Amino acid sequence: MTRPNRTMNRPIPGLLLGALLMIGTGAQAGDDHAAPAHEPPAKAAAKAAAKAAAAAESKEAPAPAAAAPARVGDEELRRRLEERIAAVRAAQKEEAPRPRPRPRPAVAHAAPATPITEHVVAAADPHAPAGGAAPAPHAAHWSYAGDGGPAEWGKLKPEFSSCSIGKRQSPIDIRGGVKVDLEPIRFDYRPTGFNVVDNGHTVQANLGGGNSIEVAGRRYELVQFHFHRPSEERINGRQYEMVAHLVHKDPEGRLAVVAVLMDQGKQHPMVQLVWNSLPLEKKEETMSPVPIDMNLMLPEDRRYYTYMGSLTTPPCSEGVLWLVLKQPAQMSPDQIAVFAKLYPMNARPIQQVSGRMIKESN
Ligand SMILES: [Zn+2]
Repeated sequence: MTRPNRTMNRPIPGLLLGALLMIGTGAQAGDDHAAPAHEPPAKAAAKAAAKAAAAAESKEAPAPAAAAPARVGDEELRRRLEERIAAVRAAQKEEAPRPRPRPRPAVAHAAPATPITEHVVAAADPHAPAGGAAPAPHAAHWSYAGDGGPAEWGKLKPEFSSCSIGKRQSPIDIRGGVKVDLEPIRFDYRPTGFNVVDNGHTVQANLGGGNSIEVAGRRYELVQFHFHRPSEERINGRQYEMVAHLVHKDPEGRLAVVAVLMDQGKQHPMVQLVWNSLPLEKKEETMSPVPIDMNLMLPEDRRYYTYMGSLTTPPCSEGVLWLVLKQPAQMSPDQIAVFAKLYPMNARPIQQVSGRMIKESN
């Protein structure tokens, strides 16, 4: 947003407005760094006034001054200012902190170079302060148990609120699907280079471009896949050993996740490729020396269940198209043990279906 700087030829009202506003808000509204919280109010106000004066002389007028209409008399300006100060003071008396408006998670805008994932989305802004004056020190960390566990996710950050108040959340127990002739998912996968990262919540493989699916007339590109143990989704109450989530994104940022359930059985060659490149350190990417063929990640039978849900990790954003393949693939006990050593349990509990439509292939 650009602000027209109309008050620059009228320095007195601009300076007055800036100084008064800073005093009126305890020097917090305009500039988070104006004064440390422990500074005496008088000193902070004086500092703020000086800062406002400096700002008025420089190109950086305080925002409210710049926002004032150009043709307003000094008296009118003063009157509006008093109203504004009164409003700010009234707001400060409210018990609840008022979170500032925050940009939506960058699902729609991330470049392909930084693949979007349930997990990368969540980690996009890990150190941003929570709303309000005093961010809780533990606010940024979510997990699958204890203090930051799934029941707490929605309270950890304002932008995680969907985790607790969302009505179309994932995973769910898939049952009672409407059996129809679902169009097949058109997989267009080819051998592709990839890297592997242990992001602190799962093991994830990030892929180069060139793999996509087409479903319901929309084309989504595969950006990454990752694992959960046990499977997050259930089919008629049954939970599987593990699940792989293949996260796809369309040009508008909409997500479609193909879930491949995993039974215990024979060794899975593509999972083995991922395990072979497991990094020694968390958050570090290891490039695989061998490309991966995602066709071989899929089971033979490609029939599926589908419903609308959410990311299963914070921020739990909704509007995600879920495509859960009916036939499980297999992983060997040793392969499952490798993952279990890192993540014995990283599955979100099942969420209410709340009357959502579930369809399944005949
Ligand atoms: Zn997942």
